[in-house]
Amino acid sequence: MAADCIFCRIHKGEIPAQKVYEDAKCFAILDINPVASGHVLVLPKDHHETWTDLPADLAADLARATQKVALAAKKAAGAEGYNLLMNNHRCSGQAIFHAHFHIIPRKTNDGKSFEWKTKPYDAGQLDKAADAIRTALK
Ligand code: AMP
Ligand code: ZN
Repeated sequence: MAADCIFCRIHKGEIPAQKVYEDAKCFAILDINPVASGHVLVLPKDHHETWTDLPADLAADLARATQKVALAAKKAAGAEGYNLLMNNHRCSGQAIFHAHFHIIPRKTNDGKSFEWKTKPYDAGQLDKAADAIRTALK
């Protein structure tokens, strides 16, 4: 529990939220400022800032809860699919520093987009980027 964390305060019942799912370790609420109707946040009850701060067992619990809630959110919204994402650290857009997955119901031509500009690697850079990750994993 972090006293100044909105999601911890929701878990404690100090701030209202539309809770749509709860189990022993995790819960899910509607995002109050949704990208699409039925946009859900799935999060652990315990306070951890990012995905990689979660103990592995809790990450697995959160993954399981997220699968359940994603199916329900898709069905409830009459959606064809969904985006599943987590912002980690301020640079990525994380605004609330209590790890949470976003589930955003999607339909073909629904007008939503992430507008990420992608580009192919420059010569030799693909191998280099892969090597850097392999090295970091050692
Ligand atoms: P992130 O940028 O991944 O940290 O996303 C934080 C999300 O929490 C945003 O999409 C907000 O709309 C949402 N949010 C902020 N306050 C609340 C709240 N009190 N109840 C539900 N969702 C919230
Ligand atoms: Zn918290």
